[in-house]
Amino acid sequence: MTIAQTSISVYLKDNSKKEIPAGSNGLDLAKSISNSLARKCVGILLNGELKDLITTLKNEDKVELITQEDPRSYEFLRHSTAHILAEAVQNLFKNAKIAIGPVIEHGFYYDFEIPDHKLTPEDLLKIEQEMQRIVNEDQKFIRVNIEDVDKQLKEFESKGEKFKTELLQEHRNENPTLYVLQDKSGNPVWDDLCRGPHVMSSGQIKAFKLLSISGAYWRADEKKESLQRIYGTSWWSKEDLNAYLARLEEAEKRDHRKLGRQLDFFSMQEETGPGLILWHPRLAFMRSQLEDFWKNLHQEKGYELVYTPHIAKNDLWNISGHNDFYKENMFYMTVDEQDYVLKPMNCPFHVLIFKSTRHSYRELPIRMAELGTVYRYERSGVMHGLARVRGFTQDDAHIFCTREQYVNEIKGVIALVNLIYKTFGLDYTAELSTKPKDAIGGNEIWDFAESGLAQALKEYGLEYKLNPGDGAFYGPKIDFKLKDAIGRIWQGATIQLDFNLPERFGLKYTDKDGSQKQPVMVHRAIYGALERFAAILIEHFAGAFPLWLCYKQVAVLPITDRQIEYANKIAGLLTEKNIRVFVDDRAESVNAKIRDAELDKIPYMIILGDKEVQENLISVRARKRGDLGKIKIEDFIGKLVQEINSKQFQ
Ligand SMILES: [Zn+2]
Ligand SMILES: [Zn+2]
Repeated sequence: MTIAQTSISVYLKDNSKKEIPAGSNGLDLAKSISNSLARKCVGILLNGELKDLITTLKNEDKVELITQEDPRSYEFLRHSTAHILAEAVQNLFKNAKIAIGPVIEHGFYYDFEIPDHKLTPEDLLKIEQEMQRIVNEDQKFIRVNIEDVDKQLKEFESKGEKFKTELLQEHRNENPTLYVLQDKSGNPVWDDLCRGPHVMSSGQIKAFKLLSISGAYWRADEKKESLQRIYGTSWWSKEDLNAYLARLEEAEKRDHRKLGRQLDFFSMQEETGPGLILWHPRLAFMRSQLEDFWKNLHQEKGYELVYTPHIAKNDLWNISGHNDFYKENMFYMTVDEQDYVLKPMNCPFHVLIFKSTRHSYRELPIRMAELGTVYRYERSGVMHGLARVRGFTQDDAHIFCTREQYVNEIKGVIALVNLIYKTFGLDYTAELSTKPKDAIGGNEIWDFAESGLAQALKEYGLEYKLNPGDGAFYGPKIDFKLKDAIGRIWQGATIQLDFNLPERFGLKYTDKDGSQKQPVMVHRAIYGALERFAAILIEHFAGAFPLWLCYKQVAVLPITDRQIEYANKIAGLLTEKNIRVFVDDRAESVNAKIRDAELDKIPYMIILGDKEVQENLISVRARKRGDLGKIKIEDFIGKLVQEINSKQFQ
């Protein structure tokens, strides 16, 4: 005789056990805890997977309730909003066919094929209205298992949904599901092939906006159908949506490609090819300051500067292994029947320098640094201003040390990362990535390398996130993520262990007991690439650089021609102290000159009228802070020199 099971137990997030009636779903579980919790719940993490809130629970399930405060709740919201978008588009454009609609950072998109209609910004408004109508109707998301795949395929085909047909065919053996949207009376009004998870009904979608339209290809393949992509965003409240839209507007204003044109920082031209940057004088000046700062700092910290060529024979890349694992990113050429490679990395050259002489343990650590320009093939679609390019200069360095020195060396690099980022007022976080599946090298060396990185982070006092299995095949690494002035995250420094190159090049040093040992090799870059770092700084400072990075530091603005002579004298005094000064002696009004200097983001303006000439003083105006009043030129110079030397950034 069996007794019907009337209750089941599930494990909650804190591993406590909770007994609930058999047949309960996530929502029932939430209600059994409290009604207010149930109201905030959006979905569940069921045995490690995000699932609909109304998924039926089984005995011994591990369940975490996901509320609106949980960042993972956006997955439910935004994905559901994408479906509502697709439903609205198909309601408005009867011959629109739907492709895919994934969640992306802060939002979602959906791809459509709409024959004979090119979407316009006005269409977005109409689509938003239709979406709002669907939201107001509070349509239910119902999950349906596709039992008869062939029948469903026919159904998709009859509607001309060729993309859905292709996807279902591809996933037919993975228990495919359909999400059906139902109106209040329970009638199906729309459906989409989807794994989920979703919110329970469209009424939960509170604050959304469609942002832009762009072109796309089915499966991102230029040879396949061209599609129209609509981007949107969705939030749990109007306040959150508005805050996000304000951030977006601010980010657009700061876009380095836009400011790059406005301030004449850089260009890319048809004749040079994509991803190859021409640095114009203003940004080149900023770069030279970054380079000088970097070189001085590294020499201070015991690094030695080296220079290496831009190309090398193919043989080098055979030894290093790049021809095996990096081939699709390298540019090849043949000269005098000899194959050459444009270097994608500086490391093999530094290894050759190390290898050119014998080393004793007494010489270690050896820290070799180079601002090395490398070339890597990137698909033309992924390039982005200065942030993603084909030719760039890394602030590269390689440390060769003994096992005993290793933790201290890593700590030294972390301290240097901190010093450099603080100089620009950039916050950062660290992530430690460990042994991946395809790793080379045994457990002993991986344990040594990983625990050393962790120990260095701990001893330095830096919290970090662990990314298990995310290391490179040749060693574990620490990645730094930078946070700019408006909270955006950028890829920053890396510290990378390498078991591969020392082995392949047979690197050795003579230890105390006379034995030959393999040095520990560390790759590290702090700016990362000067191109990307320049993009970060342009956006972080919205183009208004700290004084020490400014190509134009001071503008001298005579009010009339009568003050030009005095203006030139003042400019001469500033130039003597290596301050970069420009006299605006155009026949423009002083207001026009001030406006232009502000647009030019020049930190200081010296305004000179008859009064200033008589009193032998200057009137100073600062970017952002406005009028600073009349002072003596000597005092002003002292202030500027101090501001430059301390690399003040506000
Ligand atoms: Zn879906
Ligand atoms: Zn390297």
